[in-house]
Amino acid sequence: MKLLKSLTKLKLHWQILIAFILAILFGIFFKDHVIYVSWMGDIFLRLLRMIVIPLILSSIISGLVNIGSGGNLGRLGLKTFGFYLTTSTFAIIVGLLLVNIIKPGVGMDITSVAVDESIVIERPEISDVFLNIVPDNIFHAMATNDFLAVIFFAILAGIFISKLDKKNNLVLSHFFKAFFELFMKITMFVIKLAPFGIFGLIAKVVAEQKDFVNMVSSLGLFMLTVLLGILIHSLITLPLITRYIGKAKPFRHLSNVKTTLITAFSTASSAASLPLNMKETHENSGVSHKITNFTIPIGTTINMDGTAIYISAVVLFIAQAQGEVMGMQEQILILITALLSSIGTAGIPMASLVIITIILQVLGLPLELMALILPVDRILDMFRTTANVWGDSCCAVVVAKSEGEKLNV
Ligand code: ASP
Repeated sequence: MKLLKSLTKLKLHWQILIAFILAILFGIFFKDHVIYVSWMGDIFLRLLRMIVIPLILSSIISGLVNIGSGGNLGRLGLKTFGFYLTTSTFAIIVGLLLVNIIKPGVGMDITSVAVDESIVIERPEISDVFLNIVPDNIFHAMATNDFLAVIFFAILAGIFISKLDKKNNLVLSHFFKAFFELFMKITMFVIKLAPFGIFGLIAKVVAEQKDFVNMVSSLGLFMLTVLLGILIHSLITLPLITRYIGKAKPFRHLSNVKTTLITAFSTASSAASLPLNMKETHENSGVSHKITNFTIPIGTTINMDGTAIYISAVVLFIAQAQGEVMGMQEQILILITALLSSIGTAGIPMASLVIITIILQVLGLPLELMALILPVDRILDMFRTTANVWGDSCCAVVVAKSEGEKLNV
């Protein structure tokens, strides 16, 4: 009891770290009892998902109302999209370069990898991704967590609220501001549960790992390639951009958003990490709501640097395993398709697999070979999601600095 009391007095990140270590031990030593704790992770995830759509809607609308004139919006939009496009392109290039250098797929014994047939993956057309940005029913879009469609609607609503007459403008802008505050308050409450949620999620992931040694021996080189790409991007590329373009201190910012990053790692969902990212980037690093409300929700959907590294590495790895040599032209095709298709991907676990099917289709590679990477997908998902969320947060800092905001980083 005394121990529990002193634990609750610890700072949240220490509580999370302790929960994390205990969860790994629990997953290893009490594998068969993980069901008694995994529900905590499920509830935590459900709570986060519960607030995401209303938060996206209210944050973008209230953010746009704050931004004011169309000129401001255009400038912010250009900076945000410019940042996301540039960093995603860098990420894909790093992924492609590393697979070309390390060649994890060359000489791979394709027949030795078990095909997990329980996973069925839909095969969308890339043109649908763009068409679906415009919702035909906004309530359906919200109910089905169609982020891009909700963002599209929120941007329209935000722009047109500022064009209403003064009376109606005030009513609606106050309403969405209050709505946003409400969901930030709920976020604060959910964050307090993070140590329990993370404990449940990590214990489950650890307990579910089958034959870890075999997995590492057959796919170790591929895992290493992806992890190296994610590390280079997260600890070199993004910090350099934040330092030299944003004129901010990247590692102080990294420390400010650590709860967000640990949540991204544990949930493997950038959508679920969105509320925390907005809160920590605003409260700890000092980025205004005007910027976080615009850059982070949009980044959660369209900016996925870790995912970009992963998908380019997977596609090239599969081609290598198949004995195909991908020339410059094909690799540029991978880059462009990866960039375009990642825009419409929701920030949920295993979302990359959908993008990979699109690219494999475009390149005419067999979709079945995707089974090669399925055993390690979940583990790598945790790392790539962390990089995705970190990229969004860096964007908020760089854009805020370029707008002349005084930050704590
Ligand atoms: N899980 C990732 C995210 O939520 C997407 C993916 O790469 O599967 O950002």
